Amino acid sequence: MPSIAQIAAQVRPFITEVQAEDVDRERRSPTPPRIVDVREQHEWDAGHIPGAELIPLGTIAQAAPQRLPRKDEKIVLHCAAGVRSAVAAYQLQELGYSAVASMAGGFSAWRELGLEVEAPLNRDQLERYSRHLLIPEVGIDGQQKLLRSKVLLIGAGGLGSPAAFYLAAAGVGTLGIIDSDVVDATNLQRQILHTSDRIGEPKVDSAKRTLEALNPDVTVVGYRERLTSENIDRIVADYDVIVDGADNFPTRYLLNDASVKWRKPVVHGSIYRFEGQVTVFKPFEGPCYRCLFHEPPPPEMAPSCAEAGVLGVLPGIIGTIQANEVIKLLLGTGEPLVGRYLLFDATDTTFREVKLHRDPQCPVCGEHPTITEYIDYEGFCASPAEWRAEHSGEAAVPAR
Ligand SMILES: [Zn+2]
Repeated sequence: MPSIAQIAAQVRPFITEVQAEDVDRERRSPTPPRIVDVREQHEWDAGHIPGAELIPLGTIAQAAPQRLPRKDEKIVLHCAAGVRSAVAAYQLQELGYSAVASMAGGFSAWRELGLEVEAPLNRDQLERYSRHLLIPEVGIDGQQKLLRSKVLLIGAGGLGSPAAFYLAAAGVGTLGIIDSDVVDATNLQRQILHTSDRIGEPKVDSAKRTLEALNPDVTVVGYRERLTSENIDRIVADYDVIVDGADNFPTRYLLNDASVKWRKPVVHGSIYRFEGQVTVFKPFEGPCYRCLFHEPPPPEMAPSCAEAGVLGVLPGIIGTIQANEVIKLLLGTGEPLVGRYLLFDATDTTFREVKLHRDPQCPVCGEHPTITEYIDYEGFCASPAEWRAEHSGEAAVPAR
């Protein structure tokens, strides 16, 4: 079988070839030709002529009737070096196209002349995200979407660490992290964003250093504060998806009410000893947290805020599942855990799933909402750090 170069050599006398500089001049004229790039998707992704369209050589004969309906239209075909486009020009001519030409030297010639090139991702990004670009569900468009996305993480602790790590690695462009704590030695068994030499450092600063070192495409916005009715609108409004790694009732309810108000999906995770749970609260598509539990329990009935034991690897598993849900929500692909409560048991390595339903009587997302303002629930400790402070007389946020 002859090679594509041999075929090109045979057909070249029968086709018209044009020079790259002439194509560039004509594309800026009042009657620009249609520029069709016949290379493959990955070549296109690495850079292409602005205003060109992609129809790979292997598909052009089939695609022509739909994509190029006017046979008298002026069409310039190009590929990398002018070989594939010569063959494409001949094919189109045979199909009755009367004004097709192949650009001599192809995109290489174009680049050598220093003519304008459009690249959705830069060279470093094409390399960094190459394994994403190979997945049709992500691809160049999905990666661009991730780079433009903003995700807010409630807490840079056990769940926030792996979630933030993978979201940063995936190229989610902006990560907001809210955490008022500092790193302490007991965190290091599971909160993998932080390191031994950062004990005493604010967690948001430590997280920012780790994540921006992993991926310079990511901007980390740290909020060294606790979520309250005062600051929640200012913080939440800016983000596309929220990762809830909160360990206390006041934050969980406040976040729920704000997420319903702003219609922001919350990827909720929780862990205890060997058990973890994950679900997605997507306002008005699935239940919210208050559909399940209208009110927090009375503070005296709430589980103690004293440090609960947890297997160090467990938040790694649950937080990573949360990151996966976030990425699916951002890309609009797959089936997120909306209305599905996923339970993981680390002792026997089993997953169970419980269906969750919206409650028409829900006080925030129901038919007749009764809670229309934020509530700062009092009487709960906000975090184990605060509980420890109350019981030891230390400041809740020790000096660095
Ligand atoms: Zn609800």
